[in-house]
Amino acid sequence: MQAPTIGGVQVPRGDGSTVIRLARGASLTDLADKINANPASLVTVLFHLGEMATATQSLDEDTFKLLGSELGYDVQVVSPEDEDRELLEQFHIDLDAELEAETEDDLEERPPVVTVMGHVDHGKTKLLDAIRSAKVVESEAGGITQHIGAYQIVTTHEGVDRPITFIDTPGHEAFTAMRARGAKVTDIAVLVVAADDGVMPQTIEALNHAQAAGVPIVVAVNKVDKEGSNPAKIRQQLTEYNLVAEEYGGETMFVDVSAKQRLNIDGLLEAILLTADAALDLRANPDKDARGVAIEAHLDRGRGPVATVLVQSGTLAVGDSIVAGAAHGRVRAMLDEHGNTLDVALPSRPVQVLGLTAVPNAGDTFLVAPDDRTARQIGERREAAARAASLAKRRKRISLEDLNAALAAGKVSTLNLILKGDVSGSVEALEDALLKIDVGEGVDLRIIHRGVGAITQNDVNLATVDDAIIIGFNVRPAERVAELADREGVDMRFYSVIYQAIEDVENALKGMLKPEFEEVQLGTAEVREVFRSSKFGNIAGSLVRSGEIRRGTKARLVRDGVVVGENIEIAGLRRFKDDVTEVREGYECGINLGGFNDIQIDDVVETYEMREKPRA
Ligand code: GDP
Repeated sequence: MQAPTIGGVQVPRGDGSTVIRLARGASLTDLADKINANPASLVTVLFHLGEMATATQSLDEDTFKLLGSELGYDVQVVSPEDEDRELLEQFHIDLDAELEAETEDDLEERPPVVTVMGHVDHGKTKLLDAIRSAKVVESEAGGITQHIGAYQIVTTHEGVDRPITFIDTPGHEAFTAMRARGAKVTDIAVLVVAADDGVMPQTIEALNHAQAAGVPIVVAVNKVDKEGSNPAKIRQQLTEYNLVAEEYGGETMFVDVSAKQRLNIDGLLEAILLTADAALDLRANPDKDARGVAIEAHLDRGRGPVATVLVQSGTLAVGDSIVAGAAHGRVRAMLDEHGNTLDVALPSRPVQVLGLTAVPNAGDTFLVAPDDRTARQIGERREAAARAASLAKRRKRISLEDLNAALAAGKVSTLNLILKGDVSGSVEALEDALLKIDVGEGVDLRIIHRGVGAITQNDVNLATVDDAIIIGFNVRPAERVAELADREGVDMRFYSVIYQAIEDVENALKGMLKPEFEEVQLGTAEVREVFRSSKFGNIAGSLVRSGEIRRGTKARLVRDGVVVGENIEIAGLRRFKDDVTEVREGYECGINLGGFNDIQIDDVVETYEMREKPRA
């Protein structure tokens, strides 16, 4: 190895093919360790390549590649999956080796796990409800079933009682989200197509996902009760996408159903089992520590973090130390979809787990660790890795002209921002505009995370760790996130005009921000039904979820965390037939949003008023 001089410093050189592997979010010091160089000399080399970084700052892959090619190294940033595998190996957990070591004798049959997919309004929710109520085993808890993100039913097939697990997530996004994270959960996809509507864009999207993942499809031709429905046409349309019905000589089972009238639900369940038996070998080893995936999780006011997990192999038991994503803890209690407590959960069983110390993300894998300490350490290391990775993503570099002054001042202080917006275009536009702000001497503006959709708990957690401010552009916090932010003292700001966001950030940087009014939330209501009234337009049949809804106050309408209507007024409010002035938490009501008619089921009506804020 020679040591040529670059920019006046000596750095050991590679031969161009030497591979150096770095974790996401690594710094120049980490690279220096691996190539036996002095971190300060790498800072200098990078400087001569036109990039400014400190020795310990997280850098992105492009920067390392640039530096690597200059120095003769092929720098590779380890993928998140490999990184996690290596992390677990340090704790002597090797999931692949574990699976390979299993013999025929270890494996026992497990129920299929089914995801229902399809175009919006074709009846996914209705079908999941129909299956649940048709088949759920009479519950000991009095038949009150809860939505926990998945449920299991038992049906009799060829004289044998056979359980089937259904993923039941509100957005039906579980399938894609989990596939994106590499956690395969679904054995079979039920593709719902409305017989009166036919194959639509999301039908094709759904079947593409399933086919790409190699998941067999059962087609539920829904709404056959409707006049004008044409089940034969659906069969014919889908042949174009390689889904050929059995009766036409193909391999795909098509079942005509009516989710609304609960017609032929048994036929659908039978088709699922026949498809599973013909196409899949569904077995798992129940006799080991559980492994699986988190399907849904939230923070419960009374019970703390609550996660619904699907056990994929092994047996999960109360008292187990588990780690799900970065969350860890000991299983304090397990509940099924009827709220019954369970002592153990076998493969393909979804259960709500209490006892985690944080809320995992949907799609995070979970595993049982040998002890609490190991679970905690794995969780902490994962969290650190995720944080480093997000830090590496983007930073605003101080220009060379500013640099001397900043260094002379002896400190570079940083304003960290997290951006969330309704569409990726607006997030990018906002980001570009923010990064163009003349931040002035001694200040560094960094966008540590950006994304599309509601502000989540993760965003707030990240903001807590890095003292960041969250900027929401046409989006709102997801359920319970506002509380968390409040508790953690995280500043969230909401905008619907980019220019205003820029102006605020500029003023903040100048230390001149003077907020005059702040918004105070009064109440939220969830839309359960939409009534059409010839006199008033659309009326939102709603359940008040928090606070109270008052006639005459200002409101906005939020759909999946995205603001779809601003500056609306609660023009009318009714309980049953009576006009009322206010409705409290837990009660149902009909809300008239004046002229605003774009109301859908599951939308959230948020009411608020502006109050003058005392200057700090
Ligand atoms: P999703 O968006 O796919 O979850 O669709 P939903 O389950 O919310 O259903 C959309 C609409 O279609 C609702 O108004 C349902 O009542 C209606 N619907 C669902 N299944 C049937 C059915 O089998 N027959 C009829 N007539 N209507 C149905």
